[in-house]
Amino acid sequence: MSHLKRALNTGIVFLLCLGLFSCATTGPGGKQSLIIIPTSQEVAIGAGMAEQVAQTEKELADSEWQMYLNEIGQKIVAVCDRQDIEYHFTVIESDQLNAFAAPGGYIYFYTGLIKEMHNEAELAAVVAHEISHVVGRHGIRRLQTALGVAAALELIAGDSESGAVLATAVNVGMGLLLFPNYSRNNEREADEFGMHYMIKAGYDPNAMVTMFDILAEKGGSASNVFEKLASSHPDTQERISNAQKGIQAVSPLPSGLTLGESRFGQMKQRLP
Ligand SMILES: [Zn+2]
Repeated sequence: MSHLKRALNTGIVFLLCLGLFSCATTGPGGKQSLIIIPTSQEVAIGAGMAEQVAQTEKELADSEWQMYLNEIGQKIVAVCDRQDIEYHFTVIESDQLNAFAAPGGYIYFYTGLIKEMHNEAELAAVVAHEISHVVGRHGIRRLQTALGVAAALELIAGDSESGAVLATAVNVGMGLLLFPNYSRNNEREADEFGMHYMIKAGYDPNAMVTMFDILAEKGGSASNVFEKLASSHPDTQERISNAQKGIQAVSPLPSGLTLGESRFGQMKQRLP
């Protein structure tokens, strides 16, 4: 405990002097935000969470599907505003209508959600939304708040006690995944960035609107929807209206955007 107090007393001043509370690009157009926990620790926390997810969830045993999701994911990663980490995409075999991103670029899709989709662009819309949470550092910032300043400072210091703090961070992070996740502002930002990225990656953004229609339809009946969507996300009608405004703002849309219906149809038939 004395270590925590010492870190609190001296750490902030020390780090301010060193300029370690640096800003990072967290969105399109060079948007900057203050981040405390460094990327190396964010990735370590994400990797720890990924290990736990691997133990509790069933990875879909179809390498073609894993490669397909990864291919869509990397297409969007290539145009996103965060290139300092490796992104990992995993399909989970489960009827849950869910998808989520852990800090550090670990992104998961449940077959239950994929089965409700009509085309690759709808899948890309949710992939882009999840990548945007990682670009915006939404997960790590939420975790940072939950851990408190003292633990965050220990993670920065990376000293001998940081292994224990890291383990705590992983467990707290897992707890956060079980509850309604991000703030509404984070969700609006992820929708906005997501549309920007999906267009840049060549997908028709109208699929974001049809994806919200699916969520609106399922949100009332399913208990477990897309990042526990029903309780934490902005009103679906608001998201639809924002997406439509976003499409109007960039119209005329670039030519050659795709919905990717035929390949997605084939892949969907392979799902168990
Ligand atoms: Zn979200």
